[in-house]
Amino acid sequence: MPDPTISIPVNDLLKLGLKTENIHYQLTPEELVMHNLQREEGVLNDTGALVISTGEFTGRSPKDKFTVNDEITADTVNWNEFNIPIEPKYFDIIYKKVMDYLNTLPELWVRDGYACADSRHRLTIRSINEKPWNNLFSYNMFLRPTEEELEDFAAQWYVISAPGLKLDAKECGIRQHNVSLISFKHKMILIAGSGYTGETKKGIFTILNYILPQEKNILSMHCSANMGDNGDTAIFFGLSGTGKTTLSADPHRKLIGDDEHAWTDDNIFNFEGGCYAKCINLTEEKEPEIYHAIRPGALVENVCFFPGTNKINFDDASITENTRVSYPLHFISNALEPSIGGLPKNIFFLTCDAFGVLPPVSKLTPGQAMYQFISGYTAKVAGTETGVTEPKPTFSACFGAPFLPLHPGKYAHMLGEKMQKHKVNVWLINTGWTGGPHGVGHRVKLSYTREMITAALEGKLDNVRTESHPVFGMAIPKECPNIPTEILDPKNTWVDKDAYDEKAKYLAGLFIKNFEKYASGVTNEVLEAAPKPE
Ligand code: ATP
Ligand code: MN
Repeated sequence: MPDPTISIPVNDLLKLGLKTENIHYQLTPEELVMHNLQREEGVLNDTGALVISTGEFTGRSPKDKFTVNDEITADTVNWNEFNIPIEPKYFDIIYKKVMDYLNTLPELWVRDGYACADSRHRLTIRSINEKPWNNLFSYNMFLRPTEEELEDFAAQWYVISAPGLKLDAKECGIRQHNVSLISFKHKMILIAGSGYTGETKKGIFTILNYILPQEKNILSMHCSANMGDNGDTAIFFGLSGTGKTTLSADPHRKLIGDDEHAWTDDNIFNFEGGCYAKCINLTEEKEPEIYHAIRPGALVENVCFFPGTNKINFDDASITENTRVSYPLHFISNALEPSIGGLPKNIFFLTCDAFGVLPPVSKLTPGQAMYQFISGYTAKVAGTETGVTEPKPTFSACFGAPFLPLHPGKYAHMLGEKMQKHKVNVWLINTGWTGGPHGVGHRVKLSYTREMITAALEGKLDNVRTESHPVFGMAIPKECPNIPTEILDPKNTWVDKDAYDEKAKYLAGLFIKNFEKYASGVTNEVLEAAPKPE
């Protein structure tokens, strides 16, 4: 039974233009799961988690993400391929379509939550959903208010999702039938035509990447974070698939968060109340924390069962490679509550270098750190297309360009100042290929990457001999506890040494080309940290 003391925010919903007869407000995860099962929009797996399919979209659709170009954003947003402007009149049209559509539905799910663990910076969010599983996602991923906090809850931002609504692209001024639309003026994110839950999460992340630096002078970051027993915080930057979620779940350290954080003058705080982990090839042995988080309350997306069972086949990518699970932070046994850590002592830049060029662990000078941060490099392996063997390099400023409404220079400048002020160690970790590029070599063993990070955190790499990489310049340790010495120098792991040198030069060329657009805005120290192919 719904708690009678929690009343539906009828007036606010009416003001938005919604009918309020059949609103399910602030349901418990158990109730939401039940609604999903009754609607036959999900099933339970053998460990009791809800398994759903998100429909046409199983990943974000960056080309369909628009930001209203208005008096707030016109001169502040860094308009580019990720921040695509749309005229205010189209917001009005789409808004009306979404409201009209939601009003045709027999029931809706509404939930209040907030972002930002640090109460000084809290952002209150009202989620309005067509689907109960989208509402469960909001329960898992946003911070959950207490009953007391709910009593005088006033929503600052709205996330409204209508996956079943297909829009007319021409009429709505968009690219195709779906949209993720941000209005800073109306403080709303409208999601239509896509059921992918990540649109909600990264929509809120995007607006926080505006509000915090622009309005509060606080650095927001696309990184995970955890904390050791003596309060030392580590943060892990990296693009998708580089290991933020996997590596931050470390049984010997307290988890702060797996994806979105801010760095203030006195702390590191998480934006979210949950994690959103990949499930592909998940095993209990390699990733026990995440594996055991798949239990009642967790929401698993787009996985397949072994035929005739309700046991998830984690190796099955037939719906998508991007299978996911969301769960509240406390599903990880050693999660820190509230998720606020001390100032960081170590920063890790994670890259999944499928060329096999970058060392598995190395230390960066301040100049190199800025160079790498601005570059934001990773290289993914080509998809399943036959005949495509060459890895696909990606340069994404600040390891998060798709989510940054402001110019990358803003975030880079803030990080640079903080790194300098707090004398943080900065490490580059290649979680990608070793022993050759994709197709020849193999991915660095996860257990090795974990050992290397532990060694760095415990200061065990501080006094070992190092060697500078001949092209990229980072300091490669000559030894590392529990790691075979011969894998530390990447060239050493390649059978064909000339091929390595050639690939390193090639990758250096890509870095230099990509950096051209930033060169005029950085110091000499950063410029000098560029790779030297000759
Ligand atoms: P996103 O931003 O999309 O959430 P992420 O940075 O959190 O991405 P993870 O979800 O941690 O990335 O994905 C890393 C994937 O790579 C996991 O599936 C993990 O099992 C796999 N992996 C394999 N080898 C390694 C390694 N050496 N280090 C880290 N991850 C590895
Ligand atoms: Mn992640």
